[in-house]
Parts: sequence; structure tokens; C-alpha cells
Amino acid sequence: MSGKQAISLEFFPPRDIAAQEKLVRSAKQLLALHPAYVSVTFGAGGSTRAGTADTVRLMQNLGCDAAPHLSCIGATRPMLADILDRYREQGIKRIVALRGDLPSGMGGDSGELHYASELVAFIREHSGDWFHIEVAAYPEMHPQATHAEADLDHFVTKVRAGANSAITQYFFNADAYYDFVDRAQAKGVAVPIVPGIMPITNYAQLSRFSNMCGAEIPRWIRLRLADYGDDKASIKAFGVDVISRLSQDLLDNGAPGLHFYTLNNADVTMALWKRLDLS
Ligand code: FAD
Repeated sequence: MSGKQAISLEFFPPRDIAAQEKLVRSAKQLLALHPAYVSVTFGAGGSTRAGTADTVRLMQNLGCDAAPHLSCIGATRPMLADILDRYREQGIKRIVALRGDLPSGMGGDSGELHYASELVAFIREHSGDWFHIEVAAYPEMHPQATHAEADLDHFVTKVRAGANSAITQYFFNADAYYDFVDRAQAKGVAVPIVPGIMPITNYAQLSRFSNMCGAEIPRWIRLRLADYGDDKASIKAFGVDVISRLSQDLLDNGAPGLHFYTLNNADVTMALWKRLDLS
């Protein structure tokens, strides 16, 4: 790994006290590895706005550079301005800017800003260059997109609006990432596009996530996972093999870093970190 490749970690706000205790335990173990920064997700439609801010503060208190995810769907400009001002007062310097999704089945008002590019432009207008802005990228296409080229153009617009770097949706096929990066660079995108890395620990959960976010699980991985049934140890060992090979391939072929979706669990991310010798 080259010294310039930054490793970051993603957590989500805990739903109750037991989950909070687990998060603190996992975060302490993982922060000892010195990630470049950690990010904290935002619930669909802004449903965990307070949870994101609290978890970011927790991560800061644990001594880490923490980046809240912020989605614009369902929000007004004054609401977003207020959140940005609070984060700035809190010393936050990095934000993951997203459109987000409305909670399923709830319909409702989609707010004043309709795309992440508008949120990026709003952050720049409101807060100047204070924040380093990360945006989302989809090597296998955003699930609602119908044309690959238009989806890429929307990504380019988002970067031009003022994003400093991008994190991808997870994928299991490195060629999708290389192809996306090549096509984005051909359109003038020069910011780092960091692969998002999803550990494999639970087949049912992975299938559900992948159906929602449009990440393809290759047939051979699905069949191997289905074979393991409830054998968690074998799933974990297989997952660490597959994901460490994918991650090493990405690092060897110029990925600017890796962003691990920890799912608030330390053990698999630690195992991957060790296997990849990321220290
Ligand atoms: P956009 O970039 O706005 O794109 C959304 C769709 O709109 C795409 O299909 C795009 O092609 C299309 N589009 C964009 N601009 C235009 C335009 N001008 N005209 C027509 N179509 C357009 N969700 C959460 O709720 N909370 C989180 O914390 C969270 N974190 C994430 C982190 C990462 C790294 C990633 C990859 C995703 C995350 N998501 C999160 C999911 C994300 O919110 C959803 O995928 C959402 O549907 C799209 O958000 P976006 O920011 O990519 O949207």
C-alpha cells in the first residue's frame, strides 16, 4: 500500500443503549488502527438526524476525525443551514453529502433540494470551503438510474458543484470500479474515488442490502454463501478471503484508499485490516 492511500471507516448511529455500548467497544478497537477518518450515516429521510450528530460527537470524543453524512431529501434550506452551522461550531471539517431516500412507504414532501449536486452547491454557498465534501458514486449504477451515461453525467455534475472526493457504493466486481473511474476521468473528474468495501458476514442481510442498493453479488459468491447455511465461522472466513483479495486488487491498481462499511462490528474489519497489512 502506498502512503497516500487513506483508509476510512463507516459507522451508523445506534438505536438503543445496548447498541451504543457495542458501538463504543467496536469503535475503540477500530480507532486503535488509526483510520484517516470515520463517517457516520444518516437515517432515511433524516430519521436519525440527532443520532448522527450524537455519534459524531462520540467519535470526536474518542479522538477521531469524524464526518457526518447529511442528506437533503425532505429538508429545507434553513434546516440544512442550521445543521451545517452546528457541525462547523463542533469543529467538523468533513461531510458526506447525499440526496438520501425517503423512508419506504412514507411518501411525503421531498424538500427543497432534489439531488446531491444541489446539496453540494448549497454547502459551498453557505459554508464556503470550510468542509471537505465527499459524495457517493455508483460503479454499478444508482438503482433508480435507467441510463449509465446519464448517471455518470449526474455524478460529474455533483463533483463540479464542489465535491472534494467520492466514496463508492460497495461492489464485488473490481472491473465495474475501474470502468467507472476511467469514464469519470475521461469526463474531467480528477477527485479521488474511494471504493466502499462491504464485509461479508451474513448472507440474508447482504442479499437484502444488495437488492436495495443495486450491488450485484456474483453467482459464485451467492452459491458458496448459500452452501454455508448458518455456519457463521465459515461465512466469515470465506468473506475475509474474498474481500481481502478484492481490496488488495483495488489498492494494487491505484485505488486512492478504502472506505470500510463496518456495520458497527470490529472483528471482520480488523481481520481485513490485518490480512491487508494496512497499518
Ligand atoms: P444523487 O447523486 O442525487 O443521485 C440520485 C439519483 O438521481 C441517481 O439515479 C442520479 O443519476 C439521479 N440524478 C442526479 N441528478 C439528477 C438530475 N439533475 N436530473 C435527473 N436525475 C438526476 N443514504 C442515507 O439515507 N443515509 C446515509 O448515510 C447514506 N450514506 C451513503 C454513503 C455512501 C458512500 C453511498 C454510496 C450511499 C449512501 N446512502 C445513504 C444512499 C444514498 O442516499 C442513496 O443511494 C440515494 O438514493 C442517492 O443519493 P445520492 O447522494 O447518490 O444522490
